[in-house]
Amino acid sequence: MAEVVVVGGGLSGCAAAAAAARAGAATTLIERAEVLGGWGLLAGVVDHKYFPVREELKLMGGYDIFQVIDGCTLHRDVKFPWPGPNGAMKDLYDATKLGPGLRQGLEKIGVKVKVQCRATDVVMKGNRIEALVLNDGSHLSADAFVDATGGAGGVSNCRTYGRGCAMCFQRCPAFGDRVSIAAKAGVKELKGKKRDGTYGPTNSAYALFKESLSAEIRQELERNGIICIPIPKALVNYERTRNITASANIDAGFAENALLVDIGFVAKRIAGGYTPLEELRRIPGLENAIYAEPFAGTIGNAVRYMALTPRDEALRVKGIANLFVASEKVGINGIGEAIVPGVVAGHNAARNSRGLEPLVLPRTTMVGGFIAFGTENWDKEEWLCNRFTLYGGPFCEFAEKTGLYSEDPVQIKKRIVNNSLEGILLS
Ligand SMILES: Cc1cc2nc3c(=O)[nH]c(=O)nc-3n(C[C@H](O)[C@H](O)[C@H](O)COP(=O)(O)OP(=O)(O)OC[C@H]3O[C@@H](n4cnc5c(N)ncnc54)[C@H](O)[C@@H]3O)c2cc1C
Repeated sequence: MAEVVVVGGGLSGCAAAAAAARAGAATTLIERAEVLGGWGLLAGVVDHKYFPVREELKLMGGYDIFQVIDGCTLHRDVKFPWPGPNGAMKDLYDATKLGPGLRQGLEKIGVKVKVQCRATDVVMKGNRIEALVLNDGSHLSADAFVDATGGAGGVSNCRTYGRGCAMCFQRCPAFGDRVSIAAKAGVKELKGKKRDGTYGPTNSAYALFKESLSAEIRQELERNGIICIPIPKALVNYERTRNITASANIDAGFAENALLVDIGFVAKRIAGGYTPLEELRRIPGLENAIYAEPFAGTIGNAVRYMALTPRDEALRVKGIANLFVASEKVGINGIGEAIVPGVVAGHNAARNSRGLEPLVLPRTTMVGGFIAFGTENWDKEEWLCNRFTLYGGPFCEFAEKTGLYSEDPVQIKKRIVNNSLEGILLS
């Protein structure tokens, strides 16, 4: 049986592993930390704008990871005040349940999961990867590979481009820095930029222990999933908000209010950027706030997007015959945005392992259109400072204008059937 190894157990790597297994490959997923989920362990917000990609993935056979997320739902149909004049609807999942849910979901479909297993190098033969070198010195060989290692950290990047290691969920000091497989294979990658043009976009959200918030805030969060607390005028910092990573839909409201959501074990502040604790504690109801992530939120958040990878529309890494790329390495921000390239990269790795041509999904589908848009734009200056999302920004505007974005299941089914894509990801 042909073998695929996926490196990186964030949502994108999990989606890749599920897709490779569904396409018939003997699949191994390795993750350097002790739990699957990556940044998804602190995300929690699921945009309703994912509807068309979810529908397409269901019809094509690539829904496994969305299904795990659905199983962790904590609050449904939560109305956000931004973006857009009427707000936007989202669901919130319980981040506590995500790691175990992913592992069970993957093992059920036959994926071999190895945690605390970090790839440190590659063994090449010509333009192919023969094996990965692991942290214990052993080799792991396969016919094809997926690099889903993301772009966060490691510590030296956070020191050079950020404000130092803020002790974030990546936990580089404990589990070792992220290692890019594409870079180890000799591929030249690009670094993402902040909106001011300097390298090292930082993470935009942070988490607070719920018990450290006022009783009123806790009650509101548990009831509605969300609370919007106006920030005293003297503390509003537009520049900080403007410069944070998820810039596609950043709005002044994020600087003027602390928008908190309930994601289970913590309350997450969205798009706050780093905030010194003394400043945070001047916001009403947060007088005793304690950071849960990053622990040293006072100095900063984690640096992201430090490894953007050249690839083609099948998500094959340019110059490497059997390596596919997924995750934030393709310039995306968001859980749905991570899952989409994950599914395509995993499926194509499985095809590649059997000597088949990769699948390029038509641009008349949301999944195919999103990947094509990223492939065409990823190295343009604007996009080194921006992120590809399905919930805001130019791709969304294009999809809405051209009718690609649809909330009509019948129309979505029609385009999948007309393109003969029903169940395409299952073989
Ligand atoms: C704090 C925070 C909150 C967010 N909130 C939301 C939200 O509410 N909603 C939303 O839609 N999006 C949110 N996002 C964005 C979204 O969570 C991410 O874009 C998405 O989860 C990224 O997943 P990924 O798989 O691409 O990358 P990552 O999650 O970065 O996964 C990469 C994985 O690879 C592993 N790895 C790296 N190198 C190696 C190696 N050499 N060997 C083995 N393993 C390795 C890492 O340990 C990591 O687990 C948030 C992001 C952050 C940082």
